[in-house]
Amino acid sequence: MNTNTSVPGVTGAMKRLGTESAFTVMAKAQALAATGREIINLGIGEPDFKTPDHIVEAAIKALKGGHHGYTHPLGILALREAVVADIQKYRGVTVDPGRVLITPGGKPIMNFAITMFGEPGAEIVYPDPGFPIYGNLIAFSGAKPVPMVLREENGFAFSAKEVLSLITARTRLIILNSPANPTGGVTPKIEMDRLVEGLVSHPNVYILSDEIYSRMLYGKHEHVSALAYEAIRDRVILLDGWSKTYAMTGWRLGYSVWPESLITYAERLAINSHSCVNAAAQHAAIAALKGPQECVDTMVAAFDKRRILCTELLNGLPGVSCIEPGGAFYTFPNISATGISALELQDKILEEAGVATIAGTSFGAAGEGYLRISYANSIENITRAIDQMKAIL
Ligand code: PLP
Repeated sequence: MNTNTSVPGVTGAMKRLGTESAFTVMAKAQALAATGREIINLGIGEPDFKTPDHIVEAAIKALKGGHHGYTHPLGILALREAVVADIQKYRGVTVDPGRVLITPGGKPIMNFAITMFGEPGAEIVYPDPGFPIYGNLIAFSGAKPVPMVLREENGFAFSAKEVLSLITARTRLIILNSPANPTGGVTPKIEMDRLVEGLVSHPNVYILSDEIYSRMLYGKHEHVSALAYEAIRDRVILLDGWSKTYAMTGWRLGYSVWPESLITYAERLAINSHSCVNAAAQHAAIAALKGPQECVDTMVAAFDKRRILCTELLNGLPGVSCIEPGGAFYTFPNISATGISALELQDKILEEAGVATIAGTSFGAAGEGYLRISYANSIENITRAIDQMKAIL
């Protein structure tokens, strides 16, 4: 966890800043691949699809058309209007484009929200297991990270009762993520209803709702947006973006909706960090939202097939059991019956089976006993990888 401990003058905050292990595993896998080993990557957190052509073409057109300068720090108005239309379509809520902030990926939104609310003495509630950046940034801000444990028996959805019991007079922000990384868990509407009902008695607590996997849902699961609740709408920060939905992780494009009271702060943080998002990428983002959506449907249908296969194959491994994930593109098999810790198993599987996976503990202490397996890979690779895992288990 600690970094730069030996560099004199580096702040305590810097020393508290953790990292995202997915990148470390990726580097290890690449180093093994460089020695001639074939490594199947089930550790990756990005779609294995290409950005659809019409989106790429829009960026090329923008570059050739001279869109080379700074844009409005909140983002091009036409893009923010396209985001508003998309939110209306998928969440049934009308927001003002003046409250929309386009960011270089979804991550800066976490950074801005946690910077706004985190300081020594404050508490921020975040999902465990959950996206590691939340806990890292909370610790960096000096606030106390308060884990909300997500349990397998609840399908890795939060329990509203448990979340509400974590709120104290010092709680400033609660971070929600559904569909979730790393578990693929989807919080059902009934649980969200209960949480919102309880939050009414805590009017000073803000909510950061990370809905980056909002379009990746399977079976009967439906997306429940925190923004859809009028009772808390004036304190919800919505995080979504293009990375997962349109296979655009490398473009660095995210969007956020901020309460009226916070948008000026968010804009100021944007001006002080990145000024604005790459102009051509913003034009590509307009094409993504306004263009045909079949590309998303096709990708999600492919993920759905792999999800079912991956879960079935994992359940055939000795010492492994895996519940069916409802969203995103991850499975989170329980490996506790193997008797091996998550980190040891991650390394063993990488070194002996040539398969990259991520230890559940990379996502928080409650991830012990689990591995994150991404099915953003071909059916052939998933099948071969799990076969190779079987051989060593
Ligand atoms: N939120 C969650 C839950 C994620 O899993 C990720 C990426 O893996 C992000 C946000 C960040 O996405 P981006 O690449 O747009 O910064």
